[in-house]
Amino acid sequence: MNKGMVYFVGAGPGDVDLITVKGKRALQQADVVIFDRLINPFLLTDIRNDAKLIYCGKQPCKHTLRQEDIQREILIHAKKGKTVVRLKGGDPAVFGRVGEEAELLAEHRVAYEIIPGITAGIAATMYAGVPITHRNHSKSFAVVTGHASKEDGTPKIDWPSISKGVETIVFYMGVKHLKMISTELVKHGKAKDTGALVVQWGTYSRQRTIEGTLATIANKVEQAKITNPAIIVVGDVVKLRNKLAWFDQKPLSGKSFLIPRKMETNEKTVSTLKENGADVFEHDLLINREEKQNIKNLLNLSSKRELVFLSEKSVYAFLLTVGTNGLDLRQIQSTFLAINEKVQRTLQSVGLQANLFVKRVGMSPVLVGGELEINYYQDQLNNKAEELVLTKQIVAQKDVESFTRLIEEQHVNTIFVSNPMDALTLIRFIELSGISMKDVLDKVKVICQGKETMHVLNKHNVPFEWAIEDLPDLVSTLGEVVLQKESS
Ligand code: SAH
Repeated sequence: MNKGMVYFVGAGPGDVDLITVKGKRALQQADVVIFDRLINPFLLTDIRNDAKLIYCGKQPCKHTLRQEDIQREILIHAKKGKTVVRLKGGDPAVFGRVGEEAELLAEHRVAYEIIPGITAGIAATMYAGVPITHRNHSKSFAVVTGHASKEDGTPKIDWPSISKGVETIVFYMGVKHLKMISTELVKHGKAKDTGALVVQWGTYSRQRTIEGTLATIANKVEQAKITNPAIIVVGDVVKLRNKLAWFDQKPLSGKSFLIPRKMETNEKTVSTLKENGADVFEHDLLINREEKQNIKNLLNLSSKRELVFLSEKSVYAFLLTVGTNGLDLRQIQSTFLAINEKVQRTLQSVGLQANLFVKRVGMSPVLVGGELEINYYQDQLNNKAEELVLTKQIVAQKDVESFTRLIEEQHVNTIFVSNPMDALTLIRFIELSGISMKDVLDKVKVICQGKETMHVLNKHNVPFEWAIEDLPDLVSTLGEVVLQKESS
């Protein structure tokens, strides 16, 4: 056996929390992640910074070759001894070709595991308020492909059997053939008024649902311009939707926010947005990389000077730097100052007493922290202070990949920057990733909170749509802002 390991992981239908614990664990271990178009790109943020990502999205006309390419990629990396995750939308075994891919690994004696996922047909149906079975309405269900496989371009399906033998039928990849599907079902015995439901982007905040009967659904869906990814559900259970719909009825359903930095202070904001139906993608876009320090400089700089700590992180990074450079904190002669009360408390919590930093004439402070925050405060001090840069910010491929797809595939419609550092993080991330700010702004709007944040965005010529001073009632304020902007 080779030492490499392959995990086929079901990513679930869309909602990022619908991946299994086991699947997530495999993802976090991966050296290589090979992923499909129909996974929520935000899942990619939770993998190792140095993981290699391979996208095998839609390339029409190259179908056969593509599958071979994917299989070859999996093999190559596994044979090099890597841990490979093949991340598939929904469940890997439901129209996911896991059989073929695993078979090849078995032939090559490569070890693998298959981790099931929640399939779209069941999850999207339930998020639309329809249970796939019900004691009184349906004792059986079937998943059926609507993908064309016959030469005449229509799906090859045993219509008489499924029409008569199954109570709830879920079609995948079938919206394009919806008219034909409903006609065939009626022709083979289903009543015209059997309930029919189409759910697009199921379990995402942008989920859309069209309800009708076999007689009406095709026209309704055409009018609503629903396209893939969508499932079709046929059966009496559909009529339960009126009673059970729960997901797409919230005040912020259909809204999605990207927040460029993960911060404790944002926790409440994020949970409120989520509870009200929005998708929230909150993630540290930049990664801190420790800067090598010259010990002499460190001692020179820190003797008899005023060190100004700019953030909680800067306190811990400083202690780490002192220690890993073979120094003892007691060798540092400086006065410690804190940029704000929070940082002051952090210093206190590690046994260091510090006053708050107040700018005085004749003072020569040293700013201690990460590159980005130092730049920000330098600006405010007119570039007068010396610096001790402990970390520099870099970007990881996984974050660039995830960000680009979130924006391009329109999973995000709003970037929410609630403080100046978030704004700077976003700007630097876009700069370092080589993404065009204009392309991003063509697709999403930026909503900004607070005057300071506004200044940063203005300074970098990033147009924003709204500046919220404070958020007494986050949901109604944000909801209104987004809605007003959409209708104007
Ligand atoms: N293995 C996947 C299905 C892959 S086939 C699973 O178990 O879910 C791709 C089809 O799945 C799409 O054409 C669409 O019909 C369906 N699908 C996938 N994700 C979906 C979603 N979030 N909402 C609705 N349908 C979805």
